[in-house]
Amino acid sequence: MREIAISACLLGTNCRYNGEIKRDDRLIEMLDGLELVPFCPEDYCYGTPRPSMDLIETAEGIEAYSNATGENLSAPLRHYAQAFFEQHPDIELFIGKDRSPSCGVKSAKVYDSSKTLRSTQGRGVMAEKAEAYGIPTIDAEQFALSEEALS
Ligand code: SF4
Repeated sequence: MREIAISACLLGTNCRYNGEIKRDDRLIEMLDGLELVPFCPEDYCYGTPRPSMDLIETAEGIEAYSNATGENLSAPLRHYAQAFFEQHPDIELFIGKDRSPSCGVKSAKVYDSSKTLRSTQGRGVMAEKAEAYGIPTIDAEQFALSEEALS
């Protein structure tokens, strides 16, 4: 059985920063019969609800910072991601929630240190780790448009 890692909020889990449900029924239907392995790094590390975070360009690279405290939140997220991919070595595809600073694949906003928008095609912290493990990654909205995604 092929294993697909997927942002848990897309399956209807109440794990978004603001507690909003973002279940994607069409996507769930497309994935029927496949083994889905849900993840939510932000809920695991910081609970739900929680303050939002943004990706910021720094001298060390792109990091996730809390919009409430300014704290760099990246290290626990990366630690979660690494543990997840080590526990699930058979993941064949990563489907991430669009625009998330953790899960977005080519859709996350990235700011500079003065909070000027630098890109809308950034990679979230968990998506970055998936790519480091050589796992194909795709944003959920792109996946939904792509009949070839699972071929
Ligand atoms: S986008 Fe990712 S981090 Fe945000 S709620 Fe969904 S699974 Fe969690």
